Amino acid sequence: MKRSLLDRLCCPFDKNELNVQVFHETEDQVIIEGVLTCSCCERYFPIIYGIPIMTPDQYREKSLEISSMKRWGLELDVDRDSFRLEKPLAQKELGE
Ligand SMILES: [Zn+2]
Repeated sequence: MKRSLLDRLCCPFDKNELNVQVFHETEDQVIIEGVLTCSCCERYFPIIYGIPIMTPDQYREKSLEISSMKRWGLELDVDRDSFRLEKPLAQKELGE
């Protein structure tokens, strides 16, 4: 996804602004890997292969996301069916 799209994205559940942490971005500002987080409901939305995964909880497959999340050093509560981060991202670690 293009970085400029971030301005238009909001949490699909509560319409709040999303924070972004970028792990891989191309020179022309396309985010390939990263994670969006909502500070309101604390859900996370991974960006995998350039696609932000923002589908409703019941259509998400945690097993498909967990390897990326682990690689990025983010902890998930595997047993809880919540799509929330174990530890919210520290503010200083967030992108812009
Ligand atoms: Zn939210």
